[in-house]
Formats: sequence, structure tokens, C-alpha cells
Amino acid sequence: MDLLYLGPPDTCEHVRANLPKNINVYFAIDDASVDQFIANCDIILDAYMRIRFSADRISKAAKLKLFITATTGADHVDSESLSQRGIPLLTLRDQRDVLRNITPAAEHSWLLLMACARRLRSAIQDVLMGEWDRNKHPGIMLNGKLLGIIGCGRIGLWMSRYAAAFGMQCVGFDPYLDPWPENIEKSNLESLLRRSNFISIHVPLNSETRHLLGLKEFQLMKSGSVIVNTSRGEVIDETALLSALLEGKVAAAGLDVLNGEPDIGHNHLVEYARRHDNLIITPHIGGFSPDALRFILSFSCKRVVDFFKG
Ligand code: NAD
Repeated sequence: MDLLYLGPPDTCEHVRANLPKNINVYFAIDDASVDQFIANCDIILDAYMRIRFSADRISKAAKLKLFITATTGADHVDSESLSQRGIPLLTLRDQRDVLRNITPAAEHSWLLLMACARRLRSAIQDVLMGEWDRNKHPGIMLNGKLLGIIGCGRIGLWMSRYAAAFGMQCVGFDPYLDPWPENIEKSNLESLLRRSNFISIHVPLNSETRHLLGLKEFQLMKSGSVIVNTSRGEVIDETALLSALLEGKVAAAGLDVLNGEPDIGHNHLVEYARRHDNLIITPHIGGFSPDALRFILSFSCKRVVDFFKG
């Protein structure tokens, strides 16, 4: 059998090592290489999500029996064309047990929280400039503070565990979560915003969560709050966040996501961050970790083997 693998080149050997010898692995990284192999492949394993699998492209995969992604989303695949031919599309969406152990996005969220609390950006920068003055970088003690978690699913739950290890209490707002985790006090959004010292956002982007935090919500927050957002940029009204930073309502923010990313040329928060060190922005790197990818690929290879056994 032939398997077409799409993913970072240095993970190809890992895929080969996790599949039996009777499955030949071909590697593709761009449209041309996909089109070269697609007619002969029985299986497509996609860890890239960068190449579109349109109805037209899928129609060329005459031998295809299984499409499997090492991602939760598969918006780049024309699932209708697959289902018309009875070809299963396996994603990680329902693999809760596996996803629960994928922690890079939660770890990065925690990093942003701590970097904000300890003014890490300016402290590092000062040393590089030859300065050594600790009075310029007072830190916030985490022990005893309250973390408000908006969206208490996979990442939100990890945040609550990290918070507990640092002696923090947690309140959470998540109208859909059931059962509710024991270590998070259930709250409505308004009370969470009024009470929390730190607020961390972990909701999916949809019509309900777009601009979940706007002018009104920032007004409700404690003065000097710290905000972390690694979910999606559009969940925060960026103009409102900018005002809150300028007013000092928000003391610091750590963002891994921006409205309109990757096109950030005219983003007002990026402009603000060039002149103010209380805003830390990273380029959507939270979930990106080769360790996690290898873990997911091993699981996906096992699913391939199980599928053909079954
Ligand atoms: P998850 O599905 O496990 O948890 C999301 C939680 O949000 C759920 O418990 C859900 O009930 C809750 N929720 C939904 N609508 C809500 C609302 N209106 N108000 C409050 N809570 C609501 O998802 P996750 O794995 O924890 O990821 C959260 C988000 O983080 C993802 O949707 C994604 O956008 C983002 N993410 C970013 C990165 C990154 O690299 N920065 C990586 C992974 C995920």
C-alpha cells in the first residue's frame, strides 16, 4: 500500500518508523508533489493543512481508501467528495484522550501570563542595553491571586492546574462545559471580569465569542488586570484592548493571536507594542511543537494500522 504524507520534512522518518513495512511512505510538501503521487496513494496522512484537497484533486486519487489528518480541523479538505465515495476522513476532533495530553498551547499561555507578571520583556531588553536596575521591573506575586479562565476546556483546564501549582485560585466562565471541573469556581462573565487579577481566554472563535471582550467588558475589569489570549485574535475587540492598555486598566497583556494575522502590517496593537513593553505578542506559536507533532503522528499511524486491520 502507498501512503502520501504531508508534514514537516524532518518528521517523515518518524512516520515511516511507525508504520509497517508493507506501507510505502511518499512525502509531499507542495501542490506539485501532491499531484505527482495522488493517483497511486491508498492513504493520505496530512499534518500540514497547507495544501487544498478540492473535489477536483480528490477525484484524481482513484485508489484512495482513507484520508487522515493529524489536526482537529480539516477545512482544507472537500469532505463531501470523500463521503460520496465512502472514504473515511479521520481527524483528531473527537480524540479527547489524545488531545488532553497535548500541552504546548497551554504551556505557552502560562508562559505569557508569567512573562507579563514579571515584566520579562523589558527586563531582558534592559540587560541587553547594559542596564542592571531591578527597581524598574517590579513583579506581581502569583501566589494568592485569582485567575479568571474564559473557556474551561482542554487548554483552560491545564491553565487551572498550573495556577494551582502557583498557589492561585481559579474562577471560570464556560456556559457549555459539563461536567464542571472541581478545581475551578464556576462564574458568570461579569463576576469573573470584576474579580480576576489575571484573565486568560481559551474559547473557540464563533459568532458568540467574536469580541467577547469589548469596551464594556474591559470597563468591568479590575484596574491593573493582566490579559492573556492564545485563542483567536477576533475574540478580543483590539481597539478596546488598546484603550484599556493606554488607560492602565490593563497593566499588561500577552497575545499569541491577532485579528487579521498573519497580515499584521497595520495592526494597532503591534504598533503599540513597538513603543510599550507591557504588551507581549508572539506569532501564533502556542500549539507549534515538534514533540507534540511526533506524539500525534505516532497516534495517527496507529489509527492507519487499526483501520486496515478492522
Ligand atoms: P476546547 O474545545 O477543549 O475548549 C473550549 C472551551 O470553550 C469549551 O469548554 C467550550 O465549552 C468553551 N466555550 C465555547 N463557547 C464559549 C463561550 N461563548 N463562552 C465561554 N466558553 C465557551 O478547546 P481548546 O483545545 O481548549 O482550545 C481553545 C481554543 O484555543 C481553540 O478553539 C483555538 O482557537 C485556540 N488554540 C490556539 C492555539 C495556538 O497555537 N495559539 C493552539 C490550540 C488551540
